[in-house]
Amino acid sequence: MKRRELIGALAGAAAATTLSACGKNEEGAKAVPAVAVSKTIEWKMVTTWPKNFPGLGTGANRLAELIGQLSGGRLKVKVYGAGELVGAFEVFDAVSRGTAEMGHGGAYYWKGKIPSAPFFSAVPFGFTPDEINAWFYQADGVKLWQEAYRPFGLIPFPAGNTGPQMGGWFNKEIHSIEDIKGLKMRIPGFGGEVLKRAGGIPVTLPGGELFQAMQSGAIDATEWVGPYNDLAFGFYKVAKYYYTPGWHEPGSALEAIVNARAFEALPKDLQAIVEHACRVVNLEMLAEYTARNEQALQTLVNKHHVQLRTFPDDVLRRFRELTGEVIADVTARDRLAAKVWASQKAFLEQVSKWTRLGEQSFLRARGLDT
Ligand code: CA
Repeated sequence: MKRRELIGALAGAAAATTLSACGKNEEGAKAVPAVAVSKTIEWKMVTTWPKNFPGLGTGANRLAELIGQLSGGRLKVKVYGAGELVGAFEVFDAVSRGTAEMGHGGAYYWKGKIPSAPFFSAVPFGFTPDEINAWFYQADGVKLWQEAYRPFGLIPFPAGNTGPQMGGWFNKEIHSIEDIKGLKMRIPGFGGEVLKRAGGIPVTLPGGELFQAMQSGAIDATEWVGPYNDLAFGFYKVAKYYYTPGWHEPGSALEAIVNARAFEALPKDLQAIVEHACRVVNLEMLAEYTARNEQALQTLVNKHHVQLRTFPDDVLRRFRELTGEVIADVTARDRLAAKVWASQKAFLEQVSKWTRLGEQSFLRARGLDT
Protein backbone atom coordinates (compact mmCIF):
# COMPACT_ATOMS: atom_id res chain seq x y z
CA MET A 1 0.00 0.00 0.00
CA LYS A 2 2.72 2.47 1.03
CA ARG A 3 4.84 1.41 -1.91
CA ARG A 4 1.91 1.90 -4.28
CA GLU A 5 1.25 5.37 -2.87
CA LEU A 6 4.90 6.27 -3.30
CA ILE A 7 5.01 5.06 -6.89
CA GLY A 8 1.77 6.92 -7.55
CA ALA A 9 3.17 10.11 -6.06
CA LEU A 10 6.37 9.80 -8.07
CA ALA A 11 4.47 9.12 -11.26
CA GLY A 12 2.29 12.13 -10.49
CA ALA A 13 5.30 14.31 -9.81
CA ALA A 14 7.00 13.11 -13.00
CA ALA A 15 3.81 13.73 -14.99
CA ALA A 16 3.52 17.22 -13.50
CA THR A 17 7.12 17.87 -14.49
CA THR A 18 6.53 16.76 -18.05
CA LEU A 19 3.40 18.84 -18.36
CA SER A 20 4.84 22.02 -16.91
CA ALA A 21 8.14 21.56 -18.72
CA CYS A 22 6.13 21.56 -21.98
CA GLY A 23 4.20 24.57 -20.77
CA LYS A 24 0.93 22.66 -21.02
CA ASN A 25 -1.65 21.83 -18.43
CA GLU A 26 -5.37 21.23 -18.38
CA GLU A 27 -6.10 24.88 -19.02
CA GLY A 28 -3.82 25.02 -22.04
CA ALA A 29 -0.41 26.35 -22.86
CA LYS A 30 -1.11 29.95 -21.84
CA ALA A 31 -1.74 29.20 -18.16
CA VAL A 32 1.91 28.37 -17.42
CA PRO A 33 4.51 30.33 -19.36
CA ALA A 34 7.01 27.78 -20.68
CA VAL A 35 9.98 30.09 -20.10
CA ALA A 36 9.23 30.57 -16.43
CA VAL A 37 8.84 26.87 -15.60
CA SER A 38 11.67 25.52 -17.72
CA LYS A 39 14.25 27.69 -15.93
CA THR A 40 16.89 25.53 -14.33
CA ILE A 41 17.29 25.96 -10.58
CA GLU A 42 20.68 25.11 -9.16
CA TRP A 43 21.13 24.04 -5.57
CA LYS A 44 24.09 23.06 -3.46
CA MET A 45 23.93 20.11 -1.04
CA VAL A 46 26.53 20.06 1.74
CA THR A 47 27.03 16.83 3.66
CA THR A 48 28.58 15.62 6.89
CA TRP A 49 30.13 12.65 5.02
CA PRO A 50 33.39 12.27 3.16
CA LYS A 51 32.75 12.70 -0.58
CA ASN A 52 31.41 9.49 -2.17
CA PHE A 53 31.67 7.55 1.12
CA PRO A 54 29.85 4.19 0.62
CA GLY A 55 26.18 4.30 1.62
CA LEU A 56 26.20 7.76 3.23
CA GLY A 57 28.02 9.94 0.68
CA THR A 58 26.73 7.89 -2.23
CA GLY A 59 23.23 8.12 -0.71
CA ALA A 60 23.51 11.92 -0.82
CA ASN A 61 24.71 11.65 -4.45
CA ARG A 62 21.75 9.41 -5.25
CA LEU A 63 19.36 11.94 -3.71
CA ALA A 64 20.76 14.72 -5.91
CA GLU A 65 20.66 12.46 -8.96
CA LEU A 66 17.02 11.49 -8.32
CA ILE A 67 15.93 15.11 -7.88
CA GLY A 68 17.58 15.93 -11.22
CA GLN A 69 15.99 12.96 -13.00
CA LEU A 70 12.50 13.37 -11.58
CA SER A 71 12.47 17.09 -12.32
CA GLY A 72 13.62 16.55 -15.89
CA GLY A 73 16.71 18.61 -15.08
CA ARG A 74 14.76 21.62 -13.78
CA LEU A 75 16.27 21.29 -10.31
CA LYS A 76 19.96 20.46 -10.33
CA VAL A 77 21.69 19.68 -7.04
CA LYS A 78 25.47 19.67 -6.71
CA VAL A 79 26.79 17.62 -3.80
CA TYR A 80 29.74 18.66 -1.62
CA GLY A 81 31.55 16.27 0.70
CA ALA A 82 32.55 17.28 4.23
CA GLY A 83 35.19 20.00 4.09
CA GLU A 84 34.64 20.88 0.44
CA LEU A 85 32.38 23.88 0.96
CA VAL A 86 31.90 23.73 4.74
CA GLY A 87 33.10 21.38 7.47
CA ALA A 88 31.05 18.32 8.46
CA PHE A 89 29.60 19.92 11.56
CA GLU A 90 28.89 23.25 9.83
CA VAL A 91 26.24 21.70 7.57
CA PHE A 92 23.29 22.72 9.74
CA ASP A 93 24.34 26.38 9.97
CA ALA A 94 25.31 26.56 6.29
CA VAL A 95 21.85 25.43 5.17
CA SER A 96 20.13 27.54 7.81
CA ARG A 97 21.80 30.73 6.55
CA GLY A 98 21.43 29.73 2.88
CA THR A 99 25.09 29.17 1.98
CA ALA A 100 23.72 25.89 0.61
CA GLU A 101 20.06 25.14 -0.08
CA MET A 102 20.27 21.56 1.11
CA GLY A 103 22.24 19.32 3.46
CA HIS A 104 22.58 15.62 4.30
CA GLY A 105 23.65 14.32 7.69
CA GLY A 106 22.39 12.99 11.02
CA ALA A 107 20.11 14.90 13.39
CA TYR A 108 22.04 13.93 16.54
CA TYR A 109 24.99 16.02 15.40
CA TRP A 110 22.92 19.11 16.25
CA LYS A 111 22.05 18.24 19.86
CA GLY A 112 24.04 21.29 21.07
CA LYS A 113 21.61 23.58 19.22
CA ILE A 114 18.43 21.51 19.50
CA PRO A 115 18.19 19.28 22.58
CA SER A 116 15.43 17.18 20.94
CA ALA A 117 17.47 16.51 17.77
CA PRO A 118 18.81 13.05 18.74
CA PHE A 119 15.23 11.72 18.95
CA PHE A 120 15.06 12.09 15.15
CA SER A 121 18.14 9.96 14.48
CA ALA A 122 18.55 7.31 17.15
CA VAL A 123 17.69 6.71 20.78
CA PRO A 124 19.64 4.00 22.61
CA PHE A 125 17.44 0.91 23.05
CA GLY A 126 14.79 2.69 20.95
CA PHE A 127 13.27 2.21 17.51
CA THR A 128 14.34 -0.32 14.90
CA PRO A 129 14.55 1.07 11.32
CA ASP A 130 10.99 -0.09 10.50
CA GLU A 131 9.66 1.38 13.72
CA ILE A 132 11.24 4.80 13.31
CA ASN A 133 9.90 5.02 9.75
CA ALA A 134 6.44 4.13 11.06
CA TRP A 135 6.76 6.94 13.61
CA PHE A 136 7.97 9.38 10.94
CA TYR A 137 5.38 8.64 8.28
CA GLN A 138 2.39 7.23 10.12
CA ALA A 139 2.55 9.16 13.40
CA ASP A 140 3.92 12.54 14.52
CA GLY A 141 7.60 11.99 13.79
CA VAL A 142 8.11 14.19 10.72
CA LYS A 143 5.70 16.82 12.01
CA LEU A 144 7.60 17.18 15.30
CA TRP A 145 10.93 17.17 13.48
CA GLN A 146 9.74 20.07 11.32
CA GLU A 147 8.63 21.90 14.45
CA ALA A 148 12.09 21.45 15.99
CA TYR A 149 13.93 22.82 12.93
CA ARG A 150 11.45 25.61 12.05
CA PRO A 151 13.13 28.31 14.23
CA PHE A 152 16.30 27.71 12.20
CA GLY A 153 14.58 28.18 8.82
CA LEU A 154 15.06 24.52 7.95
CA ILE A 155 12.77 21.75 6.73
CA PRO A 156 13.97 18.22 7.58
CA PHE A 157 13.09 15.01 5.73
CA PRO A 158 14.02 11.42 6.63
CA ALA A 159 16.56 10.52 3.93
CA GLY A 160 18.36 7.31 4.74
CA ASN A 161 18.79 4.70 7.43
CA THR A 162 21.89 2.71 8.32
CA GLY A 163 19.97 -0.22 9.80
CA PRO A 164 21.22 -1.59 13.12
CA GLN A 165 24.74 -0.40 13.87
CA MET A 166 27.61 -2.14 15.66
CA GLY A 167 28.67 -1.28 19.21
CA GLY A 168 32.13 -0.09 18.17
CA TRP A 169 35.84 -0.81 17.98
CA PHE A 170 37.93 -1.38 21.11
CA ASN A 171 41.46 -2.37 21.93
CA LYS A 172 40.52 -3.88 25.25
CA GLU A 173 37.70 -6.22 26.12
CA ILE A 174 34.67 -4.94 28.01
CA HIS A 175 33.95 -7.36 30.85
CA SER A 176 32.06 -5.02 33.16
CA ILE A 177 30.93 -1.41 33.44
CA GLU A 178 34.27 -0.73 35.21
CA ASP A 179 35.99 -1.16 31.83
CA ILE A 180 34.10 1.88 30.50
CA LYS A 181 35.63 4.17 33.14
CA GLY A 182 38.12 6.59 31.61
CA LEU A 183 37.52 5.20 28.14
CA LYS A 184 37.78 7.97 25.54
CA MET A 185 35.35 6.96 22.83
CA ARG A 186 33.87 8.63 19.79
CA ILE A 187 30.15 8.15 20.18
CA PRO A 188 27.60 10.84 19.27
CA GLY A 189 24.08 11.62 20.44
CA PHE A 190 22.44 10.22 23.58
CA GLY A 191 24.82 7.24 23.39
CA GLY A 192 27.66 9.62 24.22
CA GLU A 193 25.75 10.98 27.22
CA VAL A 194 25.23 7.43 28.45
CA LEU A 195 28.93 6.66 28.10
CA LYS A 196 29.74 9.79 30.11
CA ARG A 197 27.44 8.73 32.93
CA ALA A 198 29.12 5.32 32.90
CA GLY A 199 32.45 7.08 33.55
CA GLY A 200 33.68 7.26 29.96
CA ILE A 201 34.75 10.29 27.97
CA PRO A 202 32.58 10.72 24.88
CA VAL A 203 34.03 12.53 21.89
CA THR A 204 32.12 13.73 18.84
CA LEU A 205 34.19 13.71 15.68
CA PRO A 206 33.12 13.55 12.03
CA GLY A 207 33.60 10.16 10.36
CA GLY A 208 36.50 11.34 8.22
CA GLU A 209 38.66 12.02 11.31
CA LEU A 210 38.10 8.75 13.14
CA PHE A 211 40.82 6.56 11.68
CA GLN A 212 43.54 9.06 12.46
CA ALA A 213 42.16 9.70 15.95
CA MET A 214 42.31 5.96 16.65
CA GLN A 215 45.75 5.61 15.08
CA SER A 216 47.26 8.49 17.03
CA GLY A 217 45.68 7.33 20.30
CA ALA A 218 43.67 10.56 20.62
CA ILE A 219 40.71 8.24 21.30
CA ASP A 220 40.69 4.70 22.74
CA ALA A 221 37.59 3.43 21.00
CA THR A 222 35.13 4.44 18.33
CA GLU A 223 31.83 3.52 16.89
CA TRP A 224 30.93 4.50 13.34
CA VAL A 225 28.20 2.53 11.60
CA GLY A 226 28.43 -1.20 10.85
CA PRO A 227 30.59 -3.65 8.90
CA TYR A 228 29.93 -2.17 5.44
CA ASN A 229 31.03 1.35 6.46
CA ASP A 230 33.58 0.37 9.10
CA LEU A 231 35.46 -1.83 6.62
CA ALA A 232 35.67 1.15 4.25
CA PHE A 233 37.39 3.23 6.94
CA GLY A 234 39.82 0.42 7.78
CA PHE A 235 39.23 0.39 11.54
CA TYR A 236 40.45 -3.22 11.64
CA LYS A 237 43.98 -1.76 11.28
CA VAL A 238 43.71 0.21 14.52
CA ALA A 239 41.42 -1.87 16.75
CA LYS A 240 41.22 -5.52 17.68
CA TYR A 241 37.72 -6.07 19.05
CA TYR A 242 34.46 -5.34 17.28
CA TYR A 243 31.47 -5.25 19.62
CA THR A 244 27.79 -5.99 19.17
CA PRO A 245 25.02 -4.97 19.68
CA GLY A 246 24.78 -1.36 18.58
CA TRP A 247 22.71 -0.56 21.67
CA HIS A 248 23.14 3.18 21.07
CA GLU A 249 21.96 3.22 17.46
CA PRO A 250 19.48 0.43 16.72
CA GLY A 251 18.41 1.92 13.39
CA SER A 252 19.74 5.39 12.79
CA ALA A 253 17.73 7.67 10.57
CA LEU A 254 19.61 10.14 8.41
CA GLU A 255 18.30 13.49 7.35
CA ALA A 256 18.05 15.80 4.39
CA ILE A 257 17.63 19.41 5.47
CA VAL A 258 16.35 22.06 3.13
CA ASN A 259 16.53 25.83 3.55
CA ALA A 260 12.87 26.80 4.08
CA ARG A 261 13.02 29.92 1.88
CA ALA A 262 14.60 27.98 -0.98
CA PHE A 263 11.98 25.23 -0.60
CA GLU A 264 9.07 27.67 -0.52
CA ALA A 265 10.37 29.38 -3.67
CA LEU A 266 10.04 26.09 -5.60
CA PRO A 267 6.92 25.31 -7.65
CA LYS A 268 4.70 22.70 -5.94
CA ASP A 269 5.74 19.84 -8.21
CA LEU A 270 9.44 20.39 -7.45
CA GLN A 271 8.63 20.50 -3.74
CA ALA A 272 6.91 17.12 -4.12
CA ILE A 273 9.90 15.77 -6.03
CA VAL A 274 12.34 16.81 -3.27
CA GLU A 275 10.14 15.25 -0.61
CA HIS A 276 9.59 11.99 -2.48
CA ALA A 277 13.19 11.66 -3.63
CA CYS A 278 14.08 11.73 0.09
CA ARG A 279 11.61 8.87 0.65
CA VAL A 280 13.17 6.84 -2.14
CA VAL A 281 16.66 7.33 -0.70
CA ASN A 282 15.36 6.46 2.76
CA LEU A 283 14.24 3.09 1.36
CA GLU A 284 17.21 2.42 -0.91
CA MET A 285 19.88 3.22 1.65
CA LEU A 286 18.47 0.80 4.20
CA ALA A 287 18.33 -1.89 1.49
CA GLU A 288 21.98 -1.19 0.67
CA TYR A 289 23.10 -1.64 4.28
CA THR A 290 21.03 -4.79 4.71
CA ALA A 291 22.55 -6.22 1.52
CA ARG A 292 26.19 -5.33 2.25
CA ASN A 293 26.78 -5.68 5.97
CA GLU A 294 27.19 -9.46 6.26
CA GLN A 295 29.54 -9.64 3.30
CA ALA A 296 31.72 -6.92 4.83
CA LEU A 297 31.61 -8.64 8.23
CA GLN A 298 32.96 -11.85 6.66
CA THR A 299 35.84 -9.86 5.16
CA LEU A 300 36.58 -8.25 8.53
CA VAL A 301 36.55 -11.56 10.39
CA ASN A 302 38.09 -13.93 7.84
CA LYS A 303 40.53 -11.70 6.01
CA HIS A 304 41.44 -9.13 8.65
CA HIS A 305 41.02 -11.39 11.71
CA VAL A 306 38.82 -8.99 13.63
CA GLN A 307 37.56 -10.51 16.87
CA LEU A 308 33.83 -10.21 17.44
CA ARG A 309 32.63 -9.66 20.97
CA THR A 310 29.25 -9.12 22.63
CA PHE A 311 28.71 -6.62 25.46
CA PRO A 312 27.89 -8.50 28.68
CA ASP A 313 24.22 -8.31 29.70
CA ASP A 314 25.12 -6.44 32.89
CA VAL A 315 26.83 -3.71 30.87
CA LEU A 316 23.83 -3.45 28.54
CA ARG A 317 21.44 -3.28 31.52
CA ARG A 318 23.47 -0.42 32.99
CA PHE A 319 23.56 1.40 29.64
CA ARG A 320 19.81 1.02 29.44
CA GLU A 321 19.31 2.37 32.95
CA LEU A 322 21.54 5.36 32.16
CA THR A 323 19.63 5.97 28.91
CA GLY A 324 16.53 6.49 31.07
CA GLU A 325 18.43 9.09 33.13
CA VAL A 326 19.73 10.91 30.06
CA ILE A 327 16.24 11.12 28.56
CA ALA A 328 14.75 12.24 31.90
CA ASP A 329 17.30 15.07 32.06
CA VAL A 330 16.89 16.32 28.51
CA THR A 331 13.10 16.22 28.69
CA ALA A 332 13.12 18.05 32.05
CA ARG A 333 15.06 20.99 30.69
CA ASP A 334 13.60 21.31 27.17
CA ARG A 335 9.89 21.67 26.45
CA LEU A 336 10.08 20.39 22.88
CA ALA A 337 12.24 17.41 23.86
CA ALA A 338 9.52 16.48 26.37
CA LYS A 339 6.86 16.73 23.66
CA VAL A 340 8.88 14.68 21.17
CA TRP A 341 9.72 12.00 23.73
CA ALA A 342 6.07 11.76 24.84
CA SER A 343 5.11 11.00 21.23
CA GLN A 344 8.01 8.63 20.66
CA LYS A 345 7.59 6.79 23.94
CA ALA A 346 3.87 6.19 23.40
CA PHE A 347 4.50 4.99 19.84
CA LEU A 348 7.42 2.79 20.87
CA GLU A 349 5.35 1.14 23.60
CA GLN A 350 2.61 0.12 21.20
CA VAL A 351 4.70 -0.68 18.10
CA SER A 352 7.28 -2.73 20.01
CA LYS A 353 4.50 -5.09 21.16
CA TRP A 354 3.75 -5.89 17.54
CA THR A 355 7.46 -6.18 16.67
CA ARG A 356 7.81 -8.73 19.47
CA LEU A 357 4.82 -10.75 18.34
CA GLY A 358 5.32 -10.41 14.61
CA GLU A 359 9.04 -10.18 14.01
CA GLN A 360 10.81 -11.39 17.12
CA SER A 361 8.74 -14.58 17.38
CA PHE A 362 9.31 -15.24 13.70
CA LEU A 363 13.07 -14.68 13.98
CA ARG A 364 13.11 -17.15 16.84
CA ALA A 365 11.20 -19.64 14.71
CA ARG A 366 13.59 -19.14 11.78
CA GLY A 367 16.53 -19.82 14.05
CA LEU A 368 15.20 -23.10 15.44
CA ASP A 369 17.27 -26.18 14.73
CA THR A 370 15.63 -28.58 12.35
CA1 CA B 1 27.11 5.56 14.65
